[in-house]
Amino acid sequence: MLEGKTAVVTGAAKGIGKAVALAFAKEGCNIVLNYHSTVSDSTVNAIEECGVKCMPVQGDVSDSGFAAQLVKDIKKEFGTLDVLVNNAGITRDMLLMRMSEEQFDEVINTNLKGTFNMIRHASSLMLKQRSGAIINMASVVGVTGNIGQANYAASKAGIIGLTKSAAKEFAQRGVTCNAIAPGFIETDMTDALAEETKQEILKAIPLKRYGKAGDIARVAVFFAKNTYITGQVLNVDGGMVM
Ligand code: NAP
Repeated sequence: MLEGKTAVVTGAAKGIGKAVALAFAKEGCNIVLNYHSTVSDSTVNAIEECGVKCMPVQGDVSDSGFAAQLVKDIKKEFGTLDVLVNNAGITRDMLLMRMSEEQFDEVINTNLKGTFNMIRHASSLMLKQRSGAIINMASVVGVTGNIGQANYAASKAGIIGLTKSAAKEFAQRGVTCNAIAPGFIETDMTDALAEETKQEILKAIPLKRYGKAGDIARVAVFFAKNTYITGQVLNVDGGMVM
């Protein structure tokens, strides 16, 4: 069903984005792998070993000019853009009273504006095609809020509103837009947390284990394949939020 299609994944050099890119490659999609600082040859090779093309593109999703150029390059190289996974994201955790304007802006610009930039430019192609699947990486903290993550939670709550609005605007052209709200997934992002914090989080997970990047990747593929689902936010969190 996804064979021969083109999927772009932002922030895909590691963690959840890398797992998502690999999962779509295994489905036969050509992959446009956006990375921010670096990407290893082994990641690109692993994608190509699935028998698909991999186009690594360095860039910052918070830069609208980059998003516009990326979509132009995808059209030139592949002709279509079928799946967009807005995965790039950062944290700059700090209690609200001590949070600098910079810490707030950086997170909003990467997570929320980056998602907007990519949707805005990619959708022009998808709406013309009258098909496409957009999948945005939110977070359970976008639903619940979290101490020390006002910037991050606001960005993820914004992504949920953006997802539902895009779903409503694009539905009549056959383009879907959904969000995944991961709980605690083992990646560099969560590795940075203190051991004590990790243990506290584990206590709040009914399934009593952390999630893996592959758990999220499978849901991204599910959304791309199910063209009758749009405007939804799926928590993938071991039961943390229900
Ligand atoms: P990660 O391992 O830190 O990976 C994030 C990726 O985003 C990195 O490859 C990073 O590249 C890239 N990135 C950062 N800023 C970027 C920019 N401006 N433009 C393009 N790429 C950029 O984190 P992860 O855990 O895989 O998280 C992936 C997504 O899932 C994020 O949106 C995150 O908020 C969300 N999420 C994760 C969890 C979790 O438990 N892990 C939970 C809920 C939601 P560089 O390292 O080169 O900067």
